Amino acid sequence: MKKGKKLYEGKAKIIYSTNNKSLAIQYFKDDATAFNNQKKSKIDGKGILNNRISEHILENLNQIGIKTHLVKRLNMREQVIKLAEIIPIEFIVRNIASGSITKRLGIEDGTVLKNPLIEYCLKNDELGDPLIAEEHILTFGWATKKEIEKIKKIILRINDFMIGMFRGIGIKLVDFKLEFGRIKSSNKKDIILADEISPDTCRLWDALTEKKLDKDRFRKSLGGLIPAYTEVAKRLGILHEQSNVNSSNVTNLSAFKKKIKK
Ligand code: 5GP
Repeated sequence: MKKGKKLYEGKAKIIYSTNNKSLAIQYFKDDATAFNNQKKSKIDGKGILNNRISEHILENLNQIGIKTHLVKRLNMREQVIKLAEIIPIEFIVRNIASGSITKRLGIEDGTVLKNPLIEYCLKNDELGDPLIAEEHILTFGWATKKEIEKIKKIILRINDFMIGMFRGIGIKLVDFKLEFGRIKSSNKKDIILADEISPDTCRLWDALTEKKLDKDRFRKSLGGLIPAYTEVAKRLGILHEQSNVNSSNVTNLSAFKKKIKK
């Protein structure tokens, strides 16, 4: 497969065309951004960990019949993905209140929700990804009623699966963001999960200590992002040996890069 020109550059990823019109290459950058790009940094090794963690989760979802854009991981930083027509909505799934909902609605951080809550945000950086209602999606034609119903079912399956997967490794799945896209399959349009799932897009708390193992370490300037993401990768069984990707420890980082380059 030949890598072609850059199609799109986002905050944490770059999408390149390939010589196959329906496939693209997704490159995971080390860039970290928060608060609508107001806080920025480069965290050595983050892209490598997210590539591997997202591959692991999406492969598991594929195995339970959830269609995703992942075709295969190519190397440390790249995956082959199906090119989809992205639905311009960020679907936020919450099991425990944290982050924006606590500020918006005055709900106490850590409140366990009776049922998973699905929120919709318009994917628009200039507007700061505003929260929208299902009615906005229908009124402005961003997705059809049928598509939303289908996506909600898929989201609840993903959530159930991921809660169990993380609970099994001593991690609470607090919330996460998903994106979906449309692809043509035998003359009809199908919906697929078309985004990474990683500690960049989820809130993950250690089940015993509630230590944050996700991007909040960057958002809240807590430090130790790479050790936290490494911990998630280790518990998922992606890293078997004693290894820690620490931005200040180049030896460890090269060891990790070697390990992951299988
Ligand atoms: P909140 O609305 O509390 O900021 O985010 C809820 C969840 O969705 C968190 O797990 C957060 O990481 C994820 N999320 C929401 N918007 C974005 C986004 O634009 N980029 C990323 N990487 N994650 C997001």
